[in-house]
Amino acid sequence: MEDRGFQFGDGVYELIRTYHGTVFHLQAHIRRLYESLQQIQIPLAKTPAQLGRIVQSGIERSQYAETKIYIQVTRGAAPRLHSFPKGVLPTLVMTFRELDKIPPKTFKQGVAIISVNDIRWGRCNVKSLNLLPNLLAREHALRSNAFEAIFVRDRFVWEGAGSNLFAVFGKKVVTPPVGPYLLSGITREVVIAIGRKMGLKMSEAKISLDALYRADELFLTGTTVEVLPVIRLNKKTIGSGKPGAVTSLLHKFFQDEVSL
Ligand code: PLP
Repeated sequence: MEDRGFQFGDGVYELIRTYHGTVFHLQAHIRRLYESLQQIQIPLAKTPAQLGRIVQSGIERSQYAETKIYIQVTRGAAPRLHSFPKGVLPTLVMTFRELDKIPPKTFKQGVAIISVNDIRWGRCNVKSLNLLPNLLAREHALRSNAFEAIFVRDRFVWEGAGSNLFAVFGKKVVTPPVGPYLLSGITREVVIAIGRKMGLKMSEAKISLDALYRADELFLTGTTVEVLPVIRLNKKTIGSGKPGAVTSLLHKFFQDEVSL
């Protein structure tokens, strides 16, 4: 009970998944975990290669068709004091569970989202265990019959409670820039690369909430949502009210890439 993850949310995490039993971009996820650890000064004694081997062995031992893996690292267990404890080893926990896939119907129909005020801290690039604002935002979305809540800070949209956001304006695909106000999703990076390979104009720029209503298409990306079309924002219809052509193409190319 003295673990600082429990006492303070003093730790970071990663969510990783498999496709056909192979981990999706394991190295990128492990790299991001070490970046988060470094940002909050947790000295994990394990090497990235050791972590990778534990992930692989957990997948083999759990024997699921597809696995979702949470890696959580906290500063360790020590009597409750704000100051960092000395001589304490970080706690490392991994869970392996069967992955629940989002039903194909959801991808076909698209989802509704809402916007919420971004009450998070100024280091959202750290994948911190402190998720209270994200939990409150997601709950608010679900109670509003929406799938996801997107955070708005100073008139600009940044990301969802557990996903990144993209907007399509004509032939241009825009997503908010990396920095302190969003987590650079691994799926986000993969989708940017896929879009560029397809010859689309992919750019990173701030998007105001007002501009978002005028987008032809919107979609979310993330480890579990993959490329998920958005058809309504705050009850207003986006584009034609159906998943758009660019989103559908990106979704298809993404699925092709992960089914290789
Ligand atoms: N942004 C936030 C706040 C998240 O929690 C997540 C995923 O958990 C993402 C973005 C998407 O990241 P990824 O594509 O690595 O799953």
